[in-house]
Amino acid sequence: MKITPNKILYINLGPGNKWRKDCIYTDNTIRLGHIEVSHQLCLECKSKNQWSEADQELNKYFDNKKITRRRKEISNFYSSDENTLWITHFEDKLWWCFANTNITQRIDNTKERAVIGKWNCNNILGEPLELKYFNKKLQKPNCNQTICCKKEDEIKEILEKINTIEYQQIKNNIFEHEPHLENEREEVIIQRIKRDQEIILNIKNKYNNCCQFENCGFTFSKNNGGFYSEGHHLIPLSQEGSQNENNVVILCPNHHRMLHYAQVEPIKDKENNKRLVKINGKDYFIIYK
Ligand SMILES: [Zn+2]
Ligand SMILES: [Zn+2]
Repeated sequence: MKITPNKILYINLGPGNKWRKDCIYTDNTIRLGHIEVSHQLCLECKSKNQWSEADQELNKYFDNKKITRRRKEISNFYSSDENTLWITHFEDKLWWCFANTNITQRIDNTKERAVIGKWNCNNILGEPLELKYFNKKLQKPNCNQTICCKKEDEIKEILEKINTIEYQQIKNNIFEHEPHLENEREEVIIQRIKRDQEIILNIKNKYNNCCQFENCGFTFSKNNGGFYSEGHHLIPLSQEGSQNENNVVILCPNHHRMLHYAQVEPIKDKENNKRLVKINGKDYFIIYK
């Protein structure tokens, strides 16, 4: 499912991130220390939307600058709704989740919110969100604070990575000829694309992402480290086209567009690892390994 959060907050899970593993793998929670302000008082401040009483508590321990910061972190933890995306760094990946609005107190007086579903470290197509492919700025948490708000340009990049900028393009490529797609829920489409991409990925690997058109072989490297190619179903899936290698060809964008928009004669059978395709009256060959 494509995500559309109203806010992104980076969270450090525990001093030195010591709760991170438990929160992500065991508890499915986000968690905040800051035990100098009691859970009860936090809930009161939240309901009044007025945090001055929390300041009074914090005043016993910290200077003004630190009070402002801690109060903001506590109020963000308590008051951010279910549309707030929480992110953190762990095991060289970006992890993300949404959290329930119900806040509880643990036995050690730390506070926690249950994650809705679970923590994720993949984009919506199931590919890992490796930090090394993010902007330098996002590879570092970039804040020594426990909770910090992400800025406009960072939000844009994070959402592009999670929702994957290639998704719309892949969707167009695969379902161009599918007339009933309009009525399908986005989630169903994503599941279909995931399944389809897994099959196509194997074929792309076999051809090293190089266009199968004779004398073409074009590909280019992408900014995420992989190579670019497009998978095309000779017979569209909607017309009972199969998912196997005989029906999928790996193409460069130009040859792919040709197959969709030029005058293409009915596709012939494969002969000696070649398949003849007549486009705009000219013979082209698709080469198989
Ligand atoms: Zn196609
Ligand atoms: Zn090509």
